[in-house]
Amino acid sequence: MAAVPINLMKTFLFLAIFLFAPLRIFAEVDSSLWQTEKSPHFIIYYQEDSGGFVKELINRAENYYNSIVDELGFRRFDFWSWENRAKIYLYKDNAAYVKDTQRAAWSGASVSIKTRTIKTYIGQDIFFDSILPHEMTHIIFREFVGDRNDLPLWLDEGIASSQETSNLAARMKAAGEIINQNNYLKFDNLFEVRNYALIVPHTFYAESASIIVFLIKEYGSEKFRDFCGKLRDKEPWKQALLRTYRFSNSEELEEAWKNYILKHS
Ligand SMILES: [Zn+2]
Repeated sequence: MAAVPINLMKTFLFLAIFLFAPLRIFAEVDSSLWQTEKSPHFIIYYQEDSGGFVKELINRAENYYNSIVDELGFRRFDFWSWENRAKIYLYKDNAAYVKDTQRAAWSGASVSIKTRTIKTYIGQDIFFDSILPHEMTHIIFREFVGDRNDLPLWLDEGIASSQETSNLAARMKAAGEIINQNNYLKFDNLFEVRNYALIVPHTFYAESASIIVFLIKEYGSEKFRDFCGKLRDKEPWKQALLRTYRFSNSEELEEAWKNYILKHS
């Protein structure tokens, strides 16, 4: 698929992860066939290590863990320690990954939120910059807010995308562009999106991530944690959002977001 532009590839990849991964339960893997390496918050299962990939993975994953829990305000909830460590299965190549997970060959990784497990394979550039922080954030956020199925897509994906640090500048720039071109989804429409098949990924992810960046940078991580705490307490999500940030309706929030983005993109 060398002729496919990288952005399109990313779109396919993300769609693959979104559409198939969170809902499926992994088949149990026989861990005795794997070598393991442990760190404070992760157990890495790997088949082969080349070029120090496992060490690099542990460094990056621990750094992301720290930056994600700081950003989201979850620092004092150290929920990935000891027996609760997240698991990353690192297959030796794409073929081994596909054979075992039964995923499409072009899917870069798959995730199970329930078991805190990410499965992927060695040698993908996109893994460290995008997939790893994105999927870790999905797991951390969902673990914090607990089991509820009414949250809108923009919220899950905005939070996960906001932690892909290497893509963030481009996403913020894109958010500014869609505001200037009046090509963004009005919040009342964005808030209703429940189906990945209906989104335009480039604008949807830029808009969603930029809303989360706006909330965290403008009002701080503690306030974001308060918002997530209300979600955990089963408050209706829109009410929790507006009440935490003291907006009387979604139009007011949308105006504040636009002003922030136009100043910072
Ligand atoms: Zn996602």
